[in-house]
Amino acid sequence: MRFAKVVVDVPVAQTNRIFDYEIPVHMEQSVFPGMRVIVPFGPRKIMGYVLEVTNHSDIDKIKPINDLMDVTPVLTKELLELGKWLADYTLSFYISTFQAMLPQALKASYEKEIHRLTDVLPQNLETFFAGRDYISYQSFIDAGGSYQNLQQAIQAGDIEVIYHVHSKETTKKRTMIFSKVEPLVLEEAIANLPKQATKKKQILRFFQEQTKPIEKKQLFNQLNTTHNTVKQLINDGLLKEEKIEVYRNPYQNKEVERSSPLPLMDQQKQAMDPICEALDDNLHCVFLLQGVTGSGKTEVYLQAIQHAMEKNKEAIVLVPEIALTPQMVERFKARFGPKVAVMHSALSKGERYDEWRKIHRKEVQVVVGARSAVFAPFENLGLIIIDEEHETSYKQDEHPRYHARDVAIQRATYHHCPVVLGSATPSLESFARAQKGIYQLLSMPQRMNEAEMPTVQLVDMRDELHAGNRTMFSRQLKQAMEERIARKEQIVLFLNRRGYSTFVMCRDCGHVNNCPHCDIALTYHRHNQRLKCHYCNYEERMPSECPECESDTIRYFGTGTQKVEEALQEMLPEANIIRMDVDTTRRKGAHERLLTKFGNKQADILLGTQMIAKGLDFANVTLVGVLAADSMLNIPDFRASEKTFQLLTQVSGRAGRHQLPGEVIVQTYTPEHYSIDLASTYDYDAFFKKEMLIRKTYQYPPYYFLTLITVSHPNQLKVMEVTKTISLLLRKHLSDQARILGPTPSPITKIKDRYRYQCMVKYKNEPNQRKILKKILAYFEDEMKKEDLFIQIDLQPYQLM
Ligand code: ADP
Ligand code: ZN
Ligand code: ZN
Repeated sequence: MRFAKVVVDVPVAQTNRIFDYEIPVHMEQSVFPGMRVIVPFGPRKIMGYVLEVTNHSDIDKIKPINDLMDVTPVLTKELLELGKWLADYTLSFYISTFQAMLPQALKASYEKEIHRLTDVLPQNLETFFAGRDYISYQSFIDAGGSYQNLQQAIQAGDIEVIYHVHSKETTKKRTMIFSKVEPLVLEEAIANLPKQATKKKQILRFFQEQTKPIEKKQLFNQLNTTHNTVKQLINDGLLKEEKIEVYRNPYQNKEVERSSPLPLMDQQKQAMDPICEALDDNLHCVFLLQGVTGSGKTEVYLQAIQHAMEKNKEAIVLVPEIALTPQMVERFKARFGPKVAVMHSALSKGERYDEWRKIHRKEVQVVVGARSAVFAPFENLGLIIIDEEHETSYKQDEHPRYHARDVAIQRATYHHCPVVLGSATPSLESFARAQKGIYQLLSMPQRMNEAEMPTVQLVDMRDELHAGNRTMFSRQLKQAMEERIARKEQIVLFLNRRGYSTFVMCRDCGHVNNCPHCDIALTYHRHNQRLKCHYCNYEERMPSECPECESDTIRYFGTGTQKVEEALQEMLPEANIIRMDVDTTRRKGAHERLLTKFGNKQADILLGTQMIAKGLDFANVTLVGVLAADSMLNIPDFRASEKTFQLLTQVSGRAGRHQLPGEVIVQTYTPEHYSIDLASTYDYDAFFKKEMLIRKTYQYPPYYFLTLITVSHPNQLKVMEVTKTISLLLRKHLSDQARILGPTPSPITKIKDRYRYQCMVKYKNEPNQRKILKKILAYFEDEMKKEDLFIQIDLQPYQLM
């Protein structure tokens, strides 16, 4: 008797363990770890993942597996282990972590189809197909088909099982014909054919030359032959026919011109060599590649990947979602052609499933993708690269709350391979680790072709106000734009819309009210006219005049891109403007269309949010304008300064990347703030020192770890009470060294009629914390299920609202 250890699809604490099921005799040879099965659970039948197959179970009353969902495993052994580790690491359920590793289409669809890959199936299978191209899995099982037959046929390459994806595009297949035997054997076959078989002879002669598969249709046209003649040669075992899928991938349609490796510059060689050495020695280590924008990091990635591929290993490249531009993807496609799979959210469900399948079938060796591509089911990983490693979008803000960097390091440890973290402005966490020698620092301080970083001019918007300019464009920026338009050069204008519009600032002197305890901007509450700190609950009255300069121009902050576009058009009526934000890029392909338009110089100005800050490379852009550098600076987040520094550096990197020199104009109300000032001189080291000092003083990462617990419920009293209980429990059970802040309302106090409260733990070393938090979750589980209570625990949070 064989048994399967199964994790079931019921995400509550009581079921977050492994259940034993009996494997029925007819499935005995067909169940493997990493497959999904349908199992009885109470009165229901649900999905589960098989973790292990054993000969032994301690359970008395054991139930049998009902059905198999997969015919081949969808998760490798490594990914199963990774899932268990990740569940513990992020306080998630096993089932959530396994689900996070698979493409949506696989999870959504239980409907399988069996597709034939050849016209000549073994007789025992042909009876089920009866000439059809594909049949449903269910009809196969209903007609008495066996799992074992199926698995053998998959192994032999006769059929494949795919999940039916509900989408307009269906899988397209082309039938290819190729010779199954050596040219010499064909020669003999030709000699053995009767004299009158001229057509057959002609076909076989053709295949003496044609060694690559040729599309059936093309063969028919070229040789003016028929289906029957070819089929006879297939039956004779001389030719073979195979259906090859035409994937839905949108990038596939466009022919990308292939590129070849560039001779590396010295600084690139010095970065590349240690990475390749680690690869050659099967050594796990983490490299932090700090290279200014335009220093040639991507070329280093490309060549390091090539090195891995030459050793028959695979590579994962993670890129932030918004930097996963067609331009970026094209560079990888150009170098590695069909060996690359691309995974990001702009693809349809079906397209993403196709890309995943290319990895699963080992058709590709490289995947370029956003966060979740870190789970690509490669089995021979040689390299993981995380570009723009400082980007906070690498942290997932829903279950399981993982950081791609942690997962990458975990996987690379398993595979004994290097991880490369690349950035012009590394996160404080990573740079601090590099300084301690935990990561190995590789630096590329020079831009390609000795190009200078563009000069950054800070414009003090307070002076503009005093000079009577009440528009959102300074006189300097206006003049610089007019010059560029006259010279037919292009402009990128950046507006940070992620800025939080509820902080108040004096437009006269730039003063912002900060919490005296937490050093983050206080948030304005309209209903009671008060300013509040969302970490510690400190509050004060909304001032009617600026506490610094007594001006009465103190007010909230924030403007939308559309308003800016209108004002811009009014000021520069002759300018062609492209606006890029969530609204104009919602439609599929819009992002690419707009960029192509700008690249073809069909517009003078590209105006946009975060999504234009990264990865764009246009030769003709000589001016970058930042409209409101302060809006990022004053979000209620202790990383506000770091984010501002990173963003300004990033944006500046968009200008003057090629022959023409670049200029950057940054408009701000606080030019003296260190993150704006130091970004204008590209002084990362000085910024790092200054910011580390502040983190130390106010006890933030990387000196301290954080845990953020957010509670929400429609009833405010309930939320307050639960959050209070949680903070009391934490105070009681954590060590004296841990600091527990709160309960306090979350920065966003109410979402969809649910009140939100939080408490935050700052700590250095609390080995018991996970255990305590699990107990707390278990304690409230009933209320979470029945009373619509929601408790969210985020270890090392990046999203603090
Ligand atoms: P980064 O990724 O650091 O911003 P890129 O890889 O985009 O930098 O390189 C900037 C520019 O320099 C690109 O146009 C790239 O093609 C070019 N480049 C990179 N490496 C070399 C090299 N070794 N020789 C010549 N040009 C290079
Ligand atoms: Zn003031
Ligand atoms: Zn505070």
